[in-house]
Amino acid sequence: MFGIWGHEDAAQIAYYGLHSLQHRGQEGAGIVVNNGKELKVHKDIGLVNDVFGQRVLEELKGKSAIGHVRYTTAGGRGYENIQPLLFRSMTGGISVAHNGNLTNAYGLKHQLESQGSIFQTTSDSEVLVHLIKRSAYVNLEDAFKSALSMIKGAYAFLVMTENKLMVALDPSGIRPLSLGKLGEAYVVASETCAFDTIGADYIRDVKPGELIVISDEGLHSEMFSTSNARSMCGMEYIYFSRPDSDINQMNIHTARKNLGKQLALEAPADADVVTGVPDSSISAAIGYAEESGIPYELGLIKNRYVGRTFIQPSQTLREQGVKMKLSPVRGVVEGKRVVMVDDSIVRGTTIRRIVKLLREAGAKEIHVRISAPPIKNPCYYGIDMKTKEELIAANHSIEEIKEEVGADSIAFISIDGMLKALESDGEGIGSGHCLACFTGKYPTEIYNNSPSEHVRKYNEHV
Ligand code: AMP
Ligand code: SF4
Repeated sequence: MFGIWGHEDAAQIAYYGLHSLQHRGQEGAGIVVNNGKELKVHKDIGLVNDVFGQRVLEELKGKSAIGHVRYTTAGGRGYENIQPLLFRSMTGGISVAHNGNLTNAYGLKHQLESQGSIFQTTSDSEVLVHLIKRSAYVNLEDAFKSALSMIKGAYAFLVMTENKLMVALDPSGIRPLSLGKLGEAYVVASETCAFDTIGADYIRDVKPGELIVISDEGLHSEMFSTSNARSMCGMEYIYFSRPDSDINQMNIHTARKNLGKQLALEAPADADVVTGVPDSSISAAIGYAEESGIPYELGLIKNRYVGRTFIQPSQTLREQGVKMKLSPVRGVVEGKRVVMVDDSIVRGTTIRRIVKLLREAGAKEIHVRISAPPIKNPCYYGIDMKTKEELIAANHSIEEIKEEVGADSIAFISIDGMLKALESDGEGIGSGHCLACFTGKYPTEIYNNSPSEHVRKYNEHV
């Protein structure tokens, strides 16, 4: 998610920003641009590069823009669900980009429909716009705050009208969101790597429960919630964010290296080489090698031209994706005892395949080390791990997982070890995390007013 206010080339910059956030979603991309009189959208299914050519960008004229890359966890995959969503009414346009997942969207939607609302999408994010439009408040900011008080779960929102850009982060601060400046223009992005790409200066992270309003008059901030203890998603550090991003002033590569070091302390292995899976576990593998004294080697290489396997919508496609994506380096692993560090195991597809690849390439022993604790619980906050059934660690013991993936040994970092690794000196991330997929303790209420799959699963699991 990316937003910019007050720049001649707003859409072009949003395009660069979205490019550096491409890892956060590859199903669709969109930009809404604002010329002060009206909002204009261009969005489509596909990667940022496929969706935006130079001609399209040239037609998106205006001084502010918001953009989004889509990764489906709720709602369908169709064109209508690609964000930003744009709605027009007699009072003007309103567009919304959302990162996260609302846990009470179904109940609210049901309520709104019974009062006459007609939804254009199946995305949970549309609920916000209906709540704003139906609010008794005439002032947009008050209407937005009143809508925010009704929704629960994980959200980072960008809401743009012809006159302003409003930025809000949920009271638990589950998803990352940062504020920066590019010359006189304000920029907002899901990750700080977008600022580096466009040459913007990082100002600060948006606070949990904070509403920021940006307009030609400048920036105004206020808290819309009094409960605002941060529960930053632990998986952002482990897997989701880019290594060159910082969250809560902690660099992601450094965080992952610390996780690898801690893992080496907790689960040493007698081995000849340490290797990782490009790109997501390289940092952790380097940390493991550094701490253990076992040399780091490039045991696997990645075909850059295949998309991120996990984000493929079906299991068959995912398995095919892994095969096309990774190749073992025979010269490195043949006859060796290999420590294979991966960042996480969700369904087990990737690691099973990797162990097989390494065996086929002649590895003598394979010791799998995972820089996340076992994932045993679904995520309701916008990461695609929806049901307990699909999670291998929810249904198997560590020993069974070892057998299942064909490793000689397997170990996961402990939850305490993970927290220790993520502690930074001073301000850093000590302010709290969501670890619900590991611990089952969710930082927000999970509503059971919905017959939808994820709530039913949740009820089964508690
Ligand atoms: P799996 O193959 O289902 O076990 O998925 C684990 C692999 O996918 C790991 O190697 C991670 O790099 C990656 N991964 C882990 N969690 C996620 C997630 N929530 N979304 C996308 N990819 C993930
Ligand atoms: Fe992140 Fe896991 Fe919490 Fe979901 S449940 S927000 S993946 S830590």
